[in-house]
Amino acid sequence: MSQTPISQLFSADKPLLSVEFFPPKTDEALEALMDSVDDLAIYQPDFVSVTYGAGGSTRDRSAQACNLLREDHEYNIMPHLTCVGASRDELAQTINGLYETGYRNIMALRGDAPKDADSFVVAKDGFAHASDLVAFIKELHPDIAIGVAGYPEKHPEAPDLATDLRHLKTKVDAGASFITTQLFFDNGDLYRFLDEADKLDISVPVIPGIMPVMSLKQIKRITSMCGASLPAELEKHLNTAGDDSERVRQIGIRWATEQIQDLIEAGLPGVHLYALNRSDVATELMSAFRATAEQP
Ligand SMILES: Cc1cc2nc3c(=O)[nH]c(=O)nc-3n(C[C@H](O)[C@H](O)[C@H](O)COP(=O)(O)OP(=O)(O)OC[C@H]3O[C@@H](n4cnc5c(N)ncnc54)[C@H](O)[C@@H]3O)c2cc1C
Repeated sequence: MSQTPISQLFSADKPLLSVEFFPPKTDEALEALMDSVDDLAIYQPDFVSVTYGAGGSTRDRSAQACNLLREDHEYNIMPHLTCVGASRDELAQTINGLYETGYRNIMALRGDAPKDADSFVVAKDGFAHASDLVAFIKELHPDIAIGVAGYPEKHPEAPDLATDLRHLKTKVDAGASFITTQLFFDNGDLYRFLDEADKLDISVPVIPGIMPVMSLKQIKRITSMCGASLPAELEKHLNTAGDDSERVRQIGIRWATEQIQDLIEAGLPGVHLYALNRSDVATELMSAFRATAEQP
């Protein structure tokens, strides 16, 4: 059965809820993840996205996770796809395969350098920018809804936010239906990004991406890679919690919950949860989302 294009799900009075998983490395971990995703069903996520490893390293596992989530759990899925290490022909094969299986959503990304390289390298007969991939998908299957990445604190390689937003506008003009943002911890950064995007007539829905902090060490590694900043106040709370992992978890959930409540009250069209494959964390945040979104 074909899936629903996410572009058809946006509505003025009901923000969307989505959650992201990454494909686990082993069969056992994949099985455990599939067992735990049942817990999420009561919160009715509007879609579930599945990441794609650098260099296509998780290609088969990404496909396996997408198929299980779609067939066994009947979620509306957004598979991610990157340009890393793939020629146009290979990308066309993957896109056509997804389409024939019934997928109607793709998150189109350039991707990062694989582990053994310092920076992104354009594959032979491949694409240099996500905007090229967007245009390519649109040409092959105009009815696929395409999501693209946006960066409230700019992409790490971009010289400034204005330049990065001009490139974001190119992705939208190429056919993207919506933008999902990189994680951020200060909603002020998102609101500034939206104001600047508005000035460039970027008018597709922007879904803010929220990641709860589960460990100070882990979040410092993630933010150093993706260019997001950790507010001093949040870092202070986390330092106070020290090695008490349950306390850190509570601080992370509380911060993320407050971000979500504020975003819904500000009228954002949805929230995307980077739940780090932790269904316990995802259910707490989804519950907070529903409680706020369904307030009369
Ligand atoms: C929501 C989300 C999901 C993600 N999922 C994955 C995933 O599943 N797998 C994965 O490997 N990575 C994923 N990433 C990370 C992403 O691949 C990296 O951030 C990557 O470095 C950039 O990808 P992009 O699609 O934003 O690239 P682009 O939009 O191509 O931008 C990359 C850089 O190039 C610049 N640029 C764009 N167009 C031009 C142009 N025409 N001329 C000059 N410069 C230009 C941009 O300003 C930016 O600095 C995700 C990121 C986000 C926010």
